[in-house]
Amino acid sequence: MRARDWRGLPRSRLLLLAALLAWAAAAAHEEDAEGPHSEAGLPPGHGNSHWSYADKAEWASDFPHCGGHMQSPINIETGAALFSPQLEPILLPDYSLPPREMLRLQNNGHTVVLDLPRNLTLTGGGFPQPYQAAQLHLHWGSALKPGSEHTVDGHRYAGEIHVVYYSSHFDTIQEAMVEPGGLAVLAAFLQVGSEENEPYQHILEHLNDVHEEGEETWIPAFDVAKLLPDDLSRYFRYNGSLTTPPCYQTVNWTIFNQTIRLSPDQISLLEDTLHGDEDELIQDNFRLPQSLQGRSVLASFLMLHSPEGAQPPGEGGSPRAPDPYGPAEEGGGDSAGSAAGGGQPHTPDGASGRDPEPASGEGQSPATSSGADQQVGSSLQTGDVLAAIFAALFGITALAFFLYVRKHQAQNHRRDSQPIKSSIIYTAATTEENAA
Ligand SMILES: [Zn+2]
Repeated sequence: MRARDWRGLPRSRLLLLAALLAWAAAAAHEEDAEGPHSEAGLPPGHGNSHWSYADKAEWASDFPHCGGHMQSPINIETGAALFSPQLEPILLPDYSLPPREMLRLQNNGHTVVLDLPRNLTLTGGGFPQPYQAAQLHLHWGSALKPGSEHTVDGHRYAGEIHVVYYSSHFDTIQEAMVEPGGLAVLAAFLQVGSEENEPYQHILEHLNDVHEEGEETWIPAFDVAKLLPDDLSRYFRYNGSLTTPPCYQTVNWTIFNQTIRLSPDQISLLEDTLHGDEDELIQDNFRLPQSLQGRSVLASFLMLHSPEGAQPPGEGGSPRAPDPYGPAEEGGGDSAGSAAGGGQPHTPDGASGRDPEPASGEGQSPATSSGADQQVGSSLQTGDVLAAIFAALFGITALAFFLYVRKHQAQNHRRDSQPIKSSIIYTAATTEENAA
């Protein structure tokens, strides 16, 4: 649209038109940014999994939330955890799914993901409302080093399971993941034991079917609660984020005190089977501990004061050994919160610890304009200056609006064309900075 076409119009009408267009563009932009389906925060050009553990240092530049002050994982200092009697036991009712029900198992290039039916709920745990299941996935290291995301008193475990839930206040996890407290993740540490862990075989025996990035298979359902510790009453709680981009700071974290044991063969299978980017083995798919930045870590239990190493090292390889409070040494104790903490009844801090920062959903910025309407300048006369300005304004606004709509459509298309779960926070953890 050329500026000179507008020169004939009364200036007042031009001005009105330009103003209307500017308002329309701004209104459209705002509506989208706040819309329930907006995947706020995803910067242009980063639809889903274009990140890697090798470039953890760059995450924050592409995904601004990753540079926030409520990031995960963290190192849990058991001695500093505050006992909160309001942290009731976690309840996982009716998790025994019939084997005829099939669940999707997927290699997303960062980890192995098992989709879960949303009718698996998480209640209790001091949460004001139930959470519904979305998926679970694992983090691991390599033969050379352990690979849990969270650490306890500086100790890193062999691996970590994350079961991801979203608040029942939302219809989809995409809506929940950008709202404070919208997500809850149950985490437990994996350790090397002497016996095979049968529940984990339900997943591990299918790893070879998804050894390449993007592959998926369907496996018979089973009691996925058996992938978690027996004791769901003793855990740590804090507010944090997804441990992978886009690192939304909307996660209520629960890290169980009791750990889970897998046989050496099972751990090796986990570490040496899946391939990701450029066909490289997916190993060390964990993010390093992030700064607490003033956050509190709560504990649902009072920690016993026991001399380090005084506790039994766990039931000789029982897949899910009772919490022995052993020393948190490499592959040693079974208890996440080992002997620290001298049982001081820290002030119950209850819910005060959770004040999730709003996940700002910054919308896409409408594309900037480039020199539209250059013809305008050719023969400006005194009276035409205003007309030219308004014409330029109109052109810029129209172009921005057009580009914005195009981008929005493209984004929707991209979003729709990928499996819902793939845009979940936990897309994948791969190399060392683990995201939740
Ligand atoms: Zn995770």
